[in-house]
Amino acid sequence: MEKLTPASKRRRKKKQNAVPQRQSQLNFMKRAPEVAILVVAAGRGTRAGGGVPKQYRSLAGRPLIAWTLGSLMRAAPGATVLPVIHRDDAGIYLASTGSLRASPCLSPPVHGGDSRQESAHLGLEALSAQKNVPEIVLIHDAARLFVSETLVERAITAAKTFGAAIPGVMLSDTVKEIDAEGRVVATLPRASLRAVQTPQAFRFDLILAAHRKAAAAAVLGLTDDSAVAEWAGHHVHVFAGEDSNMKVTTTEDLLHAEARLLGDLADFRTGQGYDVHAFGPGSHIWLGGVKIAHDHGLIGHSDADVLSHAITDALLGALADGDIGSHFPPSDPQWRGAASRIFLAAAAAKVRARGGFISHIDATVVCERPKLGPHRDAIRASIANIVEIPVDRVAVKATTSERLGFTGREEGIASLATATIRLPLCGKGS
Ligand code: MG
Repeated sequence: MEKLTPASKRRRKKKQNAVPQRQSQLNFMKRAPEVAILVVAAGRGTRAGGGVPKQYRSLAGRPLIAWTLGSLMRAAPGATVLPVIHRDDAGIYLASTGSLRASPCLSPPVHGGDSRQESAHLGLEALSAQKNVPEIVLIHDAARLFVSETLVERAITAAKTFGAAIPGVMLSDTVKEIDAEGRVVATLPRASLRAVQTPQAFRFDLILAAHRKAAAAAVLGLTDDSAVAEWAGHHVHVFAGEDSNMKVTTTEDLLHAEARLLGDLADFRTGQGYDVHAFGPGSHIWLGGVKIAHDHGLIGHSDADVLSHAITDALLGALADGDIGSHFPPSDPQWRGAASRIFLAAAAAKVRARGGFISHIDATVVCERPKLGPHRDAIRASIANIVEIPVDRVAVKATTSERLGFTGREEGIASLATATIRLPLCGKGS
C-alpha cells in the first residue's frame, strides 16, 4: 500500500478538492442529451388550498412548479424536460414558467389524463414521438422542488445499471397495519420498509412498454411508475433517496417548504443603481417598460429607459457582476434602440441562474414632468412582469428636485434603484 507523507496527503487533498464540482458538471454535459425528465404536474392538488392546484401556488414569490423545473434544469443541464399538465392549466402554466420557457431544454407541455398513471403514460408517448428518443427517463413529481443534483445523478446511474430504479428513504416512524375499525393488526418490520420518492428512473424503452402493456390490459390506478414496472414483471431497484426531497401536499407542507427555501437563501445582497438621461426631441419616454406620452423624448443609445437602467444596475450590483455598460456596451450596434426590458430581464435571469430570487426592488424617479402618479401602478406591474416577481415586491416612487439642478431645469430625468436579492449560501442550490 502507498505510504502517504504529510506533503503528499496535502497534494492529494488539494487535487480532490479542486476537481469534483467541475468534473461532475462535465460528466453531465456529456450524458445529459440522452436523458429526459418527465415532470408530472397534471394533478388538481387542492388539499394545499389557495384555489389553484398546489404546483402553481407561490413559494417565496415564485410558483412551486418554477422552483422544481429550475432545480431539474440546473441538476441535468442539456436533458429534455417535459412537463405534463392538466388541460385546464395551460394559461396558469404559461404565467408560472416565465423565462424558463426560453430554454431549449424545456419542451412545451403536454396534456395529462385523468390519473397519474395516464398522465405519465401520455408524457412517455410524447417523448417517444420526439426526434431524439431518450435512453433514460426520470419521472418526477412537480411538487418535489428540493430535488438535488446528487439525487438526479444517482437516479441516472441507477437507471443505467438496473433498468428500473427508485429513490427510497428509511422510515423514522413505526408503521402499523390497521383494520377498518382502526385496530392494529400488525406492526410492520421497519428495517425492510422504504418510503419512496421521485425522480423514479427507468430505461425509456422498458417503462414505455410497461405503461403500454398496463393500458392495453386496462390495469389502471397504479399510483407510481415503479408499480407499473413491477406489474409488468420488472425488478425495481431502490437507491438512496434524500430526506430533504419532500413532497408538498398540504398547506402545512407549503409553509414548511417556503420556510426552508428562505432558510437556504440566506445570502442577502443589496445593490444600488443610478442613471440619468437627457431630454431631446420626441413625443414619449419609456419608464420601467411603459411608454408615456410627453412633449420630449429621452436621448440614449437604447430606448433610454432611465428607470429600467437603474434597476438593472442595482441587480447587477447585488450580484457583484459588473454593470449595464459591461454587459450591453453602447459601442455594440445590436443594442441601438433596444428595448431596455431586455437588459432588465437578463439581470433578473442572472439572479435565478444563481438559484436565487429577487426579494424587493425600490426605485425613485426624479423629474419635474411628466407627472408619474397616474402611471405608477402600470410601471410597477411592468417591472414585476419583466423580472418575474409579484408586484407587491416592486416599489416605484417619484419626486421632483424642487426646480433645482438639471432635473429641476427639465434637462433630463434621473433614477435611483435599490435591489435586494437572496442567493443560496455557498454550496447550496447553485
Ligand atoms: Mg442609461
